[in-house]
Amino acid sequence: MTQKTSCSDTRIGEDALIAHYFAPLATSPGAYGLKDDAASLIVPDGKELVVTLDTLVSGVHFRENDPADLIARKALRVNLSDLAAKGAEPLGYFLSLALASDWIEAWLGEFAAGLGTDQKTFGISLYGGDTVMTPGPLTISITAFGIIPAGQMIRRGSAKAGDHVFVTGTIGDAALGLRAGDAVGRDQDYLRRRYLLPEPRLGLGHALRESASAAMDISDGLMGDLSKMCTASGVGATIDRNLIPISRAADNALKSDQKIWDSVLTGGDDYEILVAVSPDRIDRFRELATLSSIVLSPIGMIEAEEGVRLTDGSKKLELPGVLSFEHF
Ligand SMILES: [Mg+2]
Repeated sequence: MTQKTSCSDTRIGEDALIAHYFAPLATSPGAYGLKDDAASLIVPDGKELVVTLDTLVSGVHFRENDPADLIARKALRVNLSDLAAKGAEPLGYFLSLALASDWIEAWLGEFAAGLGTDQKTFGISLYGGDTVMTPGPLTISITAFGIIPAGQMIRRGSAKAGDHVFVTGTIGDAALGLRAGDAVGRDQDYLRRRYLLPEPRLGLGHALRESASAAMDISDGLMGDLSKMCTASGVGATIDRNLIPISRAADNALKSDQKIWDSVLTGGDDYEILVAVSPDRIDRFRELATLSSIVLSPIGMIEAEEGVRLTDGSKKLELPGVLSFEHF
């Protein structure tokens, strides 16, 4: 529970804060206007819930001075990205907000407005949550849930030797956007935007459910997440670096410094989807992805030999020393 603010503090208390900023976001009947202790969910016959949680910490997952509305949207979108990778259709989310002691209401207003914007974009709503004060940095935890036909959630551990590896969108933009800091320029703006506002590939759900052997979203870096998929599946993979889709802005950065490849391959925050597809399903997979206007690139193959390998199409390339962002 939020520490109640003292008399000398002009900030609103927890009840008013919830009523003013968050209750308007709780539009589903099962959220009871955030006036009850819990929410209730109706899961349609033949469907099941897919549930995921991601926590973002100021100074770790976003910069303290990033715009509040974009912080909110990113917190929501990284969760939606997990639902997208599992083939689920999002329904709603729970929010746990630990505000740092110096929080101000204007920040919270922008934060809630950001959530409202993306609720409209993705057709979801808030079902509940909690607000507290913390002596530490601002921390945002979101639990998102969606529905899927029962038994059809796409696992990360079911890739098979012979599957082709695909990724959506372009890889490395967010990592380069973070590196760009406050540098000025059109490429820097593009890359920074990709860092601030990921695009969950929810349109790929149908294609994944019909055609994928395995899938996961790329949050900690392409090579590291591929390695996780391979480990979970008991297989390995070889990726052709020349096939990895790169935006023009990232390509411009690579032209001036080839060392940036390490950031592209391992930097993380892409929130694209990594998919393994068996050869006989590729045509259908591509067809359904095209219908949802999601760009797919084949980047390599799943193999029986464990471990991940990188080539330039013909010869083997050295892997970066660390394959992904590690929290611990
Ligand atoms: Mg994930």
